[in-house]
Amino acid sequence: MNRKTSFFPTPLPDEHIVSTFTRFLRLSGKCNLSSGRNIITRDYRSLDSTTPWRVAYTDIYSVFKDTLSVEEFANRYTLWPFFRPFLNTEVQSNVIGMKWAPDAKKRFTLTSTVQNHSELCKSWRWCKECASSDYDHYGITYWHREHQLPSVLHCRHHRRTLNRQCPHCDQSIWDIYDLPLPSPDGVCRFCRQPMSDASSNSPLSEAVSDIEIMSVSALLNNNNSNLERTINKMRNLLSDLVHQRMSDLKISNKNARIQVNKEFRYFISNDSQIDRIFSRQGDKDYVSKHRTKDSLLHIAESTSGQSAISYIAALRFLMKEQDIPINDRIWDG
Ligand SMILES: [Zn+2]
Ligand SMILES: [Zn+2]
Repeated sequence: MNRKTSFFPTPLPDEHIVSTFTRFLRLSGKCNLSSGRNIITRDYRSLDSTTPWRVAYTDIYSVFKDTLSVEEFANRYTLWPFFRPFLNTEVQSNVIGMKWAPDAKKRFTLTSTVQNHSELCKSWRWCKECASSDYDHYGITYWHREHQLPSVLHCRHHRRTLNRQCPHCDQSIWDIYDLPLPSPDGVCRFCRQPMSDASSNSPLSEAVSDIEIMSVSALLNNNNSNLERTINKMRNLLSDLVHQRMSDLKISNKNARIQVNKEFRYFISNDSQIDRIFSRQGDKDYVSKHRTKDSLLHIAESTSGQSAISYIAALRFLMKEQDIPINDRIWDG
């Protein structure tokens, strides 16, 4: 236990560590992050939902360091297991090893390309029914990790669209400066109106449902001994599938490359829910599906630096094409 803290709440099932930190500050009588800075961490600006690893996490880890390794901590309480299989081993060990960048000014962190700040995933999201049942069970609501996955739009337990933005006042929870937790009664914390609307239960397309299964599976199946195998298996699978598809086309290599990229772009843009996962934050930097980075071959051929969402979408597209079953154990080495 860190000397400055005499207590720290135990994370609740699948709770994101930033959520536990929020509860800690509330229990310590703080009303915002700024009044609570220096207690555990000074890295409190824009603590958003999808950052795989940052200085604040390293600081909060100090509370757990007698009982967990950094990797166990990251696997249990952050979105690290979702991002990790898509990073090369050097990047992984720099980030999780909490190494310093060569200029020694800051620790290694991940670029936004890897995190894929899509329009959907920068705000904290929650399921109204989970919040209500958490409130009944634990007397408090909290931010679930699996609801923060950038490629997950629905709660898999209640099959409903996650709450993100209030339909009345358009507000969403971008950072946790004021220590917000999900509302237990479904009421917007800004305008006090009920947040659920008719779109709460919009049906899932099959492709989005598969991508959500694959994403949650990446988050939950984090057996470290299989790490290398899982990564290689995933990369080899992607590469094999691309080449299989290209040879199936029975046309010249150049034309086959153009064709598979075209098919993948169609797969993304033809499904409005997948298209939403891929659209980037803000109108100005919205990147169309046609940029090279989102091309299937670019995703399959780069060794690192592609977003987890891109890899997962590419795999879904090709696994379906090859009739490979998608289940919740695909990442298990
Ligand atoms: Zn739920
Ligand atoms: Zn509102």
